[in-house]
Amino acid sequence: MEDREFEGRTALVTGGSRGIGRAVCLRLAASGARVAVNYAADRRAAEETRDLIRGAGGAADIYLADVGDHDATGAMFDAVERDLGSVDLLVANAGIARSADALSMSVETWREIMRVNLDGTFHSVWRAKDGMVARGYGRIVCISSVLGLAPNPIAAERMIAYGTSKAAVIGFVRQCAAALGPAVRVNGVAPGYVATDMTADVSDEARTRLTAAAALKRFGRTEEIAELVHFLLSERSSFTTGQTHVADGGYKFLP
Ligand code: NAP
Repeated sequence: MEDREFEGRTALVTGGSRGIGRAVCLRLAASGARVAVNYAADRRAAEETRDLIRGAGGAADIYLADVGDHDATGAMFDAVERDLGSVDLLVANAGIARSADALSMSVETWREIMRVNLDGTFHSVWRAKDGMVARGYGRIVCISSVLGLAPNPIAAERMIAYGTSKAAVIGFVRQCAAALGPAVRVNGVAPGYVATDMTADVSDEARTRLTAAAALKRFGRTEEIAELVHFLLSERSSFTTGQTHVADGGYKFLP
């Protein structure tokens, strides 16, 4: 898909190296944005995302930072601003899940999931907001999850920390939208199951049950989530802020 809506804009996508984040990077670059691809560990994947963008004639660079680390996130923004310009579009996408996150979940697991999924979202938005408000333009999308709306009654795992972190992201989106408007719009996206590394270890049995429960009878594709993120960043959604939008293929157990 080709349009030039974000020509001259700089986008930062946390966790842009793989999965949903990569698809978002490619989609924004196809709209003309200069893209900062953030990663935490997998440099090769980040380089691949960057090279895909450059190969298609776009502008991108890669930035190492653990978004759970406040200072490292700040240093990443400094580098992006130096290289690519002020961040106009932020997609706070970086996230982790723990598949054995059941009632035996440890305190360490709880803290690590909150540190990356919630603190990481906060660090990124907080560093981006002042420049956006000062310039009178900013568009933010935070990636939540359907597990932030309700626990999953199908999969055996109880993703308590993960679901709670993603519920908090939905609240954070509402609070930030109220505080940062009218210059800045802040929305969320809550994907259902999407085929990425994060869901690669879902058992065949769970996969069968999960897809059977969805109206569309399949997992989502990363491009389908990226398209919704693009819409929420774009002026096609100019009257929408503070909302978290579900893209889950229609799980029948959700309200
Ligand atoms: P993924 O394939 O596992 O990719 C995760 C991305 O996040 C990678 O780019 C990874 O970087 C990055 N990341 C992890 N920890 C980080 C940290 N501390 N600092 C910076 N970056 C970090 O995951 P995904 O499925 O694309 O998920 C993306 C987002 O969507 C997550 O927030 C996830 O919770 C959410 N989500 C996913 C699904 C799904 O079914 N896949 C459903 C609902 C919500 P490296 O490459 O360097 O490791």
